[in-house]
Amino acid sequence: MSGATAIKLADFQANARAALKDPKLRDSFTGAMDFLIDRRAQQFPDLEAFERLRKVGEAVRQQALSKLPELLEQLENKLTSLGVQVHWAETAADANRIFLDLARRHDASLMVKGKSMVSEEIELNHEMAAQGIECVETDMGEYILQLDGDRPSHIIMPAIHKTKQDVAEIFHEHIKGAPLTDDVNELIAIGRRALRDKFSAARIGVSGVNFMVAETGSLVLVENEGNGRLCTSVPDVHIAITGIEKVIEKLEHVAPLFALLTRSATGQAITTYLNVITGPRRDGEKDGPREMHLILLDNGRTQAYREERFRATLQCIRCGACMNHCPVYTRVGGLSYGTTYPGPIGAIISPHLQNLKETRHLPTASSLCGACGEVCPVGIPIPDMLMRLREAGRHSAAQSATPPQQALRGQGEVRQLAEALAWKAWRLLYSHPALYRLLVWFAARLNWLTPPWQGGWTQARAPLKPASKSLRDLLAERRRQRK
Ligand code: SF4
Repeated sequence: MSGATAIKLADFQANARAALKDPKLRDSFTGAMDFLIDRRAQQFPDLEAFERLRKVGEAVRQQALSKLPELLEQLENKLTSLGVQVHWAETAADANRIFLDLARRHDASLMVKGKSMVSEEIELNHEMAAQGIECVETDMGEYILQLDGDRPSHIIMPAIHKTKQDVAEIFHEHIKGAPLTDDVNELIAIGRRALRDKFSAARIGVSGVNFMVAETGSLVLVENEGNGRLCTSVPDVHIAITGIEKVIEKLEHVAPLFALLTRSATGQAITTYLNVITGPRRDGEKDGPREMHLILLDNGRTQAYREERFRATLQCIRCGACMNHCPVYTRVGGLSYGTTYPGPIGAIISPHLQNLKETRHLPTASSLCGACGEVCPVGIPIPDMLMRLREAGRHSAAQSATPPQQALRGQGEVRQLAEALAWKAWRLLYSHPALYRLLVWFAARLNWLTPPWQGGWTQARAPLKPASKSLRDLLAERRRQRK
């Protein structure tokens, strides 16, 4: 179970409606997404070349997933031989317990953390704060949100919903001595100065991981700000956390995935920093952590792995391109979803991390336009996944739990009584043709009684109304005219 609690359907709808009415939010989102879409397009001017690279990325991820248990074992052995301590966490609570134990063991009351969506998933900051341990975000966007008590709305650009004026006010209010300025360079300098002291004081540095290489035991970390490198090299102890699916087989597989990730995420050919961390500081080395840990989190990923039809979800490299191109996400913003991962990737991963019953509305928050699937750099068939999850939400767990399919947590619990009754009535009518014809005859003649308001359907569509003539009537009429 994820640390994040999914919001209810009604709340999602209310959030989305409020977001649509917020011109500031819409402006900042539309502007930022247009910018990212444009930058990505510039990086992939040749669609055939993109397709070729995508095929390579897809194959690398599929190959890794096809032997996930073996690769994880190989990775653990390699990391252990390099002096890295590997921890397995089945749930978010397990992962937080490991963090707490390590913090207590090192008498650490302060941790500095680089950007990590998995740490958001387990709500690390919140959990550590409850135990009296300060966990400071060092990615500038995440730091702004932490100061403001807010949550990320995008997996790559977490504070995309904030304007520079918002940031100016947040810094002025929360950082001692910060002047009120909306000069972007000055704001970055203020943030950096405030964070420098934290880096030097922290005993523990926390990071996420983009890829784990089983062959070499290397943890690959992609970033632009340099804070990831500081978190993983300045404090005495480095704790990395990531999902079990991030393993790849060989070091040479990093190159195509890196090219796809940076181009798809921020429209950069290469990021400012690419950290390849292979073990803690060795004798004779001048920097680096003296102790290194890796926490491998499951938290529902095994469920997605077990189900062949959902396994491709785990191919994701968290580039955010599907979100940038989604007409729903770009209009309602990331916070409306109430999940760690918003947008199309959130809609297909959250049912596994939380459960289908709690997140059943997410796969329906899509127009199924197919843009997400088209841009996904590792070829995840996102629209198909959305349809499969919609179907799983409607089918009883017992029906679907026959091998090779397993029931998803929460599957089938959402089937409403009204819907079940409607299908029973439909079956009854279809198996009694005379009764069916009689009903159609009445429906056609009494269609003026159709209520103009039909629940959620008429919020955005015209009311459903039986036709004044059935298809059967029309065909009979045509036959008569031909005679
Ligand atoms: S699903 Fe594809 S496009 Fe979306 S974040 Fe993952 S890799 Fe990127």
